[in-house]
Amino acid sequence: MQTVWNKQQEFVVGVDLGGTKIAAALFDSEGQLLNREQMETAGARTAEEVVARITNMIRSVSGGQPLRGVGMASPGTVNSREGIVIHGTNLPEWTNVPLKAWMERDLHTEVQVLNDANAAAWGEYVRGAGRGSTNMIYVTLSTGIGSGIVLDGKLFLGSSSFAGELGHHIIDPSGPQCNCGSHGCWEVFASGTAIGLAASQRMLTQPSVISELAAAEAGVNAKHVFEAKRLHDPVAVEVIDRAIYYMALGLVNVIHSFNPDRIVIGGGVSRAGELLFPQLREMTDKLVMPSYLGTYEIVPAGLRDDVGLVGAAALFQ
Ligand SMILES: [Zn+2]
Repeated sequence: MQTVWNKQQEFVVGVDLGGTKIAAALFDSEGQLLNREQMETAGARTAEEVVARITNMIRSVSGGQPLRGVGMASPGTVNSREGIVIHGTNLPEWTNVPLKAWMERDLHTEVQVLNDANAAAWGEYVRGAGRGSTNMIYVTLSTGIGSGIVLDGKLFLGSSSFAGELGHHIIDPSGPQCNCGSHGCWEVFASGTAIGLAASQRMLTQPSVISELAAAEAGVNAKHVFEAKRLHDPVAVEVIDRAIYYMALGLVNVIHSFNPDRIVIGGGVSRAGELLFPQLREMTDKLVMPSYLGTYEIVPAGLRDDVGLVGAAALFQ
């Protein structure tokens, strides 16, 4: 369909589509958030039903204002040039969904679709901790590791718009199997899930305060392990030291590949703050080639839960 540009319009909507919730927000041309709504994804089984919910949310959150555009952050593999969700992780029915075409047909405004990690990277670059950098790598340490690459001030999508899967660069092919099918991907060693799993395994042979910290919850997660590290628990110290070594190893590969001036770390694990960043910077400096020392900074993300929809909306601002 013919793309409709409404550049004279002031307002933009950003949408973050997730496996459990959909969030939508209205922004003005300066990126100021004016209105926000959220709903559960569950209950809408088909892609058509989810898209109908999203378009209703967009109409509601915008109050019927004419829009310059709608930016979408979608999980999984996205062809951003065509606006097609090729495979929606956590959205089982989503295979080759022409999200852009469907939404433009219903909304009569330009729609852009990004993978959620790329949207978050762009959000951090434009509105968050990446502001003022030129070559920025965004890494989200969460259940897995997501990432996005900004080079010379532009989001780098690659030939098929699949670029930025740094979580699946292979650190050790003899390592454990990853969800993607390969062995020893970065996220198998350095994600929040990896930290929780490593602590659980270590606790089989050595008692730890982690078991008390995690008692009220379903399992051990990275937050419990960092809390225990604060208490100088030996298991936690060992597990976090190892995870930080692998985080730094991955970052060194990224630094050697892209020579970024800034690396922005987001996701749940980044909230460990001072228990993470000084040691991560020190280990990265230790492992990187000496000529790179002083060329990059490693900083915590500036935006939190809305980073995906902020970044998607910022495509139009
Ligand atoms: Zn993998």
